[in-house]
Amino acid sequence: MRSMSELAERYVFDHLPVFTQNLFVSMAGQQRFRNRFSDHFHTTLENWQETIDGPVDLLHQIQRERLDRLVLRAREHSPFYKDLSEPSRADDAHEAIRETLAQMPVLEKKVYRDNTENIIARDIPARRLRRGMTSGTTGTALRLFYTRETEAEEYATVWRLREQLGVGLYDPHFTFTGKIIVPVTQTRPPFWRHNSYNNQTLFSLYHMSPDNLELYVDQLHEIDAVYANGYPSALHLVAREMLTKGTTLTRGQLKAVFTSSESLLAFQRDDIEEAFGAKVWDRYGSAEFAVSMTACPQQNLHVDMEYCIVEVDVIEETDQWERGQLLVTGLANDATPFIRYRIGDVGTRLKGSCPCGRPGDVFLDVDGRVEDFIVTSSGRKIGRMDHIFKSMDQVEEAQILQTTLEEIEVVFIPGAGFDSTTESKLRREIRSRLGDEMGVRLNPVNEIAREPNGKFRAVKSTIGKLSS
Ligand SMILES: [Zn+2]
Repeated sequence: MRSMSELAERYVFDHLPVFTQNLFVSMAGQQRFRNRFSDHFHTTLENWQETIDGPVDLLHQIQRERLDRLVLRAREHSPFYKDLSEPSRADDAHEAIRETLAQMPVLEKKVYRDNTENIIARDIPARRLRRGMTSGTTGTALRLFYTRETEAEEYATVWRLREQLGVGLYDPHFTFTGKIIVPVTQTRPPFWRHNSYNNQTLFSLYHMSPDNLELYVDQLHEIDAVYANGYPSALHLVAREMLTKGTTLTRGQLKAVFTSSESLLAFQRDDIEEAFGAKVWDRYGSAEFAVSMTACPQQNLHVDMEYCIVEVDVIEETDQWERGQLLVTGLANDATPFIRYRIGDVGTRLKGSCPCGRPGDVFLDVDGRVEDFIVTSSGRKIGRMDHIFKSMDQVEEAQILQTTLEEIEVVFIPGAGFDSTTESKLRREIRSRLGDEMGVRLNPVNEIAREPNGKFRAVKSTIGKLSS
């Protein structure tokens, strides 16, 4: 949750010269780097580089050991889980995993939300707990807890793939993620900041108007980066600009483009690969640190089995695949046991093995992360508006609707504790991304309708609808 001091920091940051902002961005980068890339990260990454090729029996054995530990810890340290059954004693690891999970209840988001205090492990001292928030796919804010080791293991899955593609920790790179690193009110370039600690150029996602995109592309040509990472929607906007103007990057300059946080749509992949001159490698993860899947050369998503177990609540299947909601069990979070957690995304799992040769569970796709853009009156396109609700736990559920360029409508279900202060905060959060150029209508309701396929969409815009 944003405190007064964070708002004050934001205000001070916004009024600093660019040079000093770069310095702050670099210091934050150094802090992030040290937190993530600890000794535990390096040891884990080394171990997991060895197990990526299996054999699958070894992967099941690792999963089983970690699952048993998770269940025993949950029984002992999480009051919510005190009555869980003991893990299966079956000889075969795969069978044991199935048996153990089969006797566990499914954890729904609402149940997690209502029981968070009783799910957090009591034996982790408060000073070791790290805190986060997620808006999830439903716009419902969840409070999250994890440890430094959890984060290190999350990044081991990320860097296992990157290292295999020849990318190193200190390599220069472009980042297109949701951090507000350039004041939203700023109308002149630069719309990017440099973190010199690990050679990162961070591009603002909140200034991507048709006029500004050319400047983004110039900057991409300025820097000898090795890879790019970010949200597919943002990378795609820049890719379209390069393709339209014939200003694509030299093929092979970048070793790879890494996408995450949203569904990667097929046309986005094609445009990004053509414009950035490198292959796109997608990843599916979650703020709950309960699941991780990384792409392979076949464009399938492989479950990082050392890190999580993924079940499919099947609604549709053929001989080749099964499709349904994902139930994920996180093996790397000692602070929060997410066991058979219904994360809200739908995936299609291959029944056979992947032609790329990597053993273990593999998905053809995971969706439920498709979001529309909001288009502002000046033509800026803004994705991931659902992030606004990350810090708003007095909002039960929310959806942003846009049918005109003049205003957006925020439909929401107010929860306990929602008052005029919360309302002002919500407006501030929205303004911090949109700026002041359009109207914002808040519309409290009792219920928000689902799509015909049963999915909830956090953002619906008839103006900014993605098109190729
Ligand atoms: Zn594969």
